[in-house]
Parts: sequence; C-alpha cells; structure tokens
Amino acid sequence: MRIEHLIAGKSVASADYFQTVNPATQEVLAEVASGGEAEVDQAVAAAKAAFPKWAGLPAPERAKLIRKLGDLIAQHVPEIARTETDDSGQVIAQTGKQLVPRAADNFHYFAEMCTRVDGHTYPTPTHLNYTLFHPVGVCALVSPWNVPFMTATWKVAPCLAFGNTAVLKMSELSPMTAARLGQLALEAGIPAGVLNVVHGYGQQAGEPLVRHPDVRAISFTGSTATGHRIVKAAGLKKFSMELGGKSPFVVFEDANLERALDAAVFMIFSNNGERCTAGSRILVQKSIYAGFVDRFVARAKKIAVGDPLDEKSIIGPMISQGHLAKVRGYIELGQKEGATLLCGGLEAPLLPDRVKKGNYVLPTVFADVDNAMKIAQDEIFGPVACLIPFEDEADAIRIANDIPYGLSSYVFTENIGRAHRVAASIEAGMCFVNSQNVRDLRQPFGGTKASGTGREGGTWSYEVFLEPKNIAVSL
Ligand code: NAD
Repeated sequence: MRIEHLIAGKSVASADYFQTVNPATQEVLAEVASGGEAEVDQAVAAAKAAFPKWAGLPAPERAKLIRKLGDLIAQHVPEIARTETDDSGQVIAQTGKQLVPRAADNFHYFAEMCTRVDGHTYPTPTHLNYTLFHPVGVCALVSPWNVPFMTATWKVAPCLAFGNTAVLKMSELSPMTAARLGQLALEAGIPAGVLNVVHGYGQQAGEPLVRHPDVRAISFTGSTATGHRIVKAAGLKKFSMELGGKSPFVVFEDANLERALDAAVFMIFSNNGERCTAGSRILVQKSIYAGFVDRFVARAKKIAVGDPLDEKSIIGPMISQGHLAKVRGYIELGQKEGATLLCGGLEAPLLPDRVKKGNYVLPTVFADVDNAMKIAQDEIFGPVACLIPFEDEADAIRIANDIPYGLSSYVFTENIGRAHRVAASIEAGMCFVNSQNVRDLRQPFGGTKASGTGREGGTWSYEVFLEPKNIAVSL
C-alpha cells in the first residue's frame, strides 16, 4: 500500500518514501511519501489559495461540512480504529471505544462552537469599541505518534471550523489515520486545499512547514525538545505548544484508596503509558505507603499485556523499537539509581504468536523512588510507575513541583480544604481531584513550565485559531 500527500485535494507523490510498521508484528503497513520543502511549499500555497473563500463562508455553512466530517468518522469507527491500532499499537478497546469516537465528537463540538463565536463591545461616552474575531489564515498543525488520530482532530476541528486552512503533518511513526482523515474531509464536501496533509520526517517536512512565512499559526503537540526547536525556527507566529509531562499523582492518607488505586493504575498504564498526561510520579503519604504499594503492584501484575487487536488487552506494543529501547533503558537506569523494582522490568512478557516480535514491555513498578532520580525527572513515556513517599501536605506540594514539567496533576483526599489547597498549589495546567483524567471539550487543555504554552479546547482555542481585532469608532 502507498500513502501519498494530500495537496489541494489531490494525491501527490514524493521522490522518497518511508515505511510505516505495525509495532505489534513488525509487518510493513504502507510506503508513505516522504515530503520536504517542495511539498510543504505546494501545500502551504494550496492552503493560502483556499483561505479567502473558506474564511468567507458563513459559519453555519462551514459548520454543516465540519459536522458531516464528524458523522463520517462516526460511521467509520471500526475501520479507523483498526488502522490506528495497527499503526500505533494502541489497544483496540481504546481506539474503538474511546479515541476514534472522541475524534468524531471533536468535529461535532467545534461545528457547534463556530456558530457561536461572538464579539465584545466596550462603549464609552466618546467611542464605541467593538471586537471582531477573524480567522488567522494558514495554520501548521504538527502532531505526535501517541493517540495520533484523536490528537490530529483536536487541532483540525477548531482550526477549520473557525475559518482557517491547514497543513497537517503527522508523526512519521503513525501517519495512516491522518491520511484517511484527509480523504474523509473531501468526502464531507470540505473544499480542496482547506485541509492538506504532508507526510514526512520532522526535520525534512516539519521544520520547513513551521518556518514557512505564509504560515500564521502553529499548533504543535510533541516533545519539549522539539517544541524548543520549533519556537526558535518559526519566528513570530501564533503558537500553541502542547509538550511533554511528568505529572504528579498525589495520594493522601485520608483518600478513598480503592478509587485512588483504580485511577493511579489507569493513569500510568492505559494507552501503553504513552500518554502526555500520565500520572507517572505517584506520591503516597508515608502512613499508608507500604499498603498502597502492595495493592498497586498486585493490580499492575494483573494487567493484560497482549495483542492490541484483542479486546481484553490493556497494554499493547511500544510505538517503535527505538522507543522500546528507550523505555528499557530507563528500567535499567532505575535499578542502578537504587529504586526498588517490584514488578515488570526487563522480563519478557508471554505473548500470543501473532505478536511475538512486538515491541513489548511489562507494566513496571518502581518503589522508594527519590524525586531527584532521573526515572522521576524524565518523561519515560511508557508503562513505568514511580512510587514516591512523602511526609505531609507541604512535602507533597514541594515534591510535586520539583520538576521542569507542568502539564497535569492528580490529588486524592477526602479533606475538601486540602483538596482545594493542593490543587491550587501544584504548578500544572490541569488538576484532577479524586479523579483520573476526564476531558471536557470546553476546558483549557495544556500545560505550564516545560509542558508548553497556550491552551486549546472550547473558547480557549480562540487563542491560536482566531485573531481578535478591536475597532474604535468615534461617536
Ligand atoms: P516529537 O517531538 O518527536 O514529534 C512530534 C511531531 O513533531 C512529529 O510529527 C515530528 O515529525 C515533528 N517534528 C520533529 N522535529 C521537528 C522539527 N524540527 N520541526 C517541526 N516538526 C518536527 O514527539 P513524539 O515523540 O512524536 O511524541 C511524544 C511527545 O509528545 C511526548 O513528549 C508527549 O508528552 C508529547 N505529547 C504531548 C501532548 C500534550 O497535549 N501536551 C499530547 C500528546 C503527546
């Protein structure tokens, strides 16, 4: 199978191709066009040409087309989920029941929202000020390989709904469902050139795209290192940077422990642990630490690691052999740093024949982790939990904030005052109290510190995809 770029509504070939591989079986799924400056120039030109007409459509008409795209995704959930699972290793129970349906919701939600964009008025005795929101123009949407389809639609939906045009560049490790998204957008009646998809490697295709002078805004999701690079390369543009995380999951002695354990296990092991909002540092109060650790490990050992196409699997393969080596490297390092390995580790999982060559790692638990260790400070981005004891509220807040990242956070306590105090004190873009990460499409999603800048979701997506203009009329 070959996957080409989608530029101005047409399938466009490249001189070079790269292979995308099923991480569970190592089978080559497709040869994918590997774009560079030339294809990026063509795609940006197509987006620029399509912009005036698309931006000029009344919002309800754009909304109809965006809603139709959501409907088409909803009709194709099994097919898209299967492709996503094959290409990314995310288990089918997640792609089929959560991630692809959520992608359809993203379009339905922003179809509705774009009809509600309003302005502001600031009257004075001498002037009437009013504010208009204009679409920005051509946007570069750059997406990572974890939950690729959902993440891409989280960008494409508001970008297009608000009247912008886009060039989408997916990760070279999981490009297949974005290619399908491009086809479905055309099928929905979204005009050629409004959504262009260029495939390729970060430096060859991503960098010329973010640098391009006709690109007015960048919505990037990926690692902090790439985020830094893009900010330097791109020059003055609107940005939304959704970067890495190492989020604290804080459990106080008065927490509902069943609930905390369920959420702790979910937040580090679901999505293969390849999750930006993973609760990867689990901070547990010393008075309940030993019992919590035993119960957490017992649950981790029961997690089904297996064929991602099996509905019962919770953990599938890591995205690539390179990423598997990175995760295993951290497991070795944790032992050298003196953390106590309680389960998982480098032991090979028992796997069905079909996926025996897959990039697997067992759910791994390290206890007695010191927050200064590299396994506590670095984003491992795999199913590796670090359990860290703490003394009291002040100690919990100190450890939670002693990290360069600030994406998400989790607090478990039955003391309402403490819940609010700690939630307010943790340096993060989001805090979930007595809950795993449950996303509402209206909430501001994003992080602080090295986890990024800008927020997306609901009206927060105005920040990157709409340009406010104030008009002052002398009375
Ligand atoms: P990555 O930074 O390696 O790549 C992300 C995207 O950027 C890919 O499409 C890649 O090709 C492209 N890219 C790479 N170099 C580039 C350059 N110089 N210029 C332009 N584009 C370039 O990240 P990844 O490994 O694909 O994804 C995992 C990371 O993403 C993790 O750090 C994770 O926490 C983060 N992430 C963050 C969020 C969030 O919302 N904050 C969500 C998902 C993933």
